[in-house]
Amino acid sequence: PTPAAPLLIARRLHARYGGFTALDGVDLDLSPGRVTAVVGPNGAGKSTLFHCLAGTLRPAHGTVRLGGRDITALPAHARSRLGVARTFQQLAVFPSLTVAENVRVGAEQGRVSDPGAVERTLRLLGLDGPVRALPAAGLPTGTLRRVELARVLAGGPRVLLLDEPAAGLDSAEVAALARVLKALAADGTALLVVEHDLDLVAGLADVVHVMTAGRIVASGPPGNVLNALGTAAGP
Ligand code: ADP
Ligand code: MG
Repeated sequence: PTPAAPLLIARRLHARYGGFTALDGVDLDLSPGRVTAVVGPNGAGKSTLFHCLAGTLRPAHGTVRLGGRDITALPAHARSRLGVARTFQQLAVFPSLTVAENVRVGAEQGRVSDPGAVERTLRLLGLDGPVRALPAAGLPTGTLRRVELARVLAGGPRVLLLDEPAAGLDSAEVAALARVLKALAADGTALLVVEHDLDLVAGLADVVHVMTAGRIVASGPPGNVLNALGTAAGP
């Protein structure tokens, strides 16, 4: 089948913190049904790129378009209404609300108002058992990450941006996360995964971009790109 046209298109993104250039002309396309990964060393600019796509940072130059519409000037909440959803590197759940209530809040903040979304999402993430009635405070990190993801998914995003989704997860949790993300892609969501965990990226991504010092320096299927990284950088 012909690959779907890109849904989110970023061009020539530049971002600065004071005099420091954190993004130096980045182009990125996210397409429905595809998982795009961005990898690179600490300080490469991955999170800065993520913030420019999510709307939490305004680039100094460059554009972000969604389905042909220029969204460069739109803040995060407006992008979220258009279906661009993101998770947080620091967990963002309401501690005093139950798991199900957290997911309900997400459904209300999203693109679509779908009464079935909460239950469907709880099931997809294995949160439909007794845990649904527990307050988020005190749940283990792996569960909280699922709650956070469920909250975002309940809003029916077309584009899902994930910054280090595997952080703090054990290998079984990472494998479960990969299955959920693959199911979302198969359903037509456009995914961006900014990730340190190259094993997750290798098993999940359709295309990998390597960032260094604010630029994308290599792109391709994970096999090619990650092997080249291993050769260049050693273990
Ligand atoms: P990564 O996510 O790849 O580790 P970041 O995008 O977080 O990289 O950071 C890129 C560069 O920008 C780093 O050198 C970092 O120190 C710097 N930086 C990030 N955020 C800020 C900020 N709020 N103020 C100043 N410098 C920042
Ligand atoms: Mg980061």
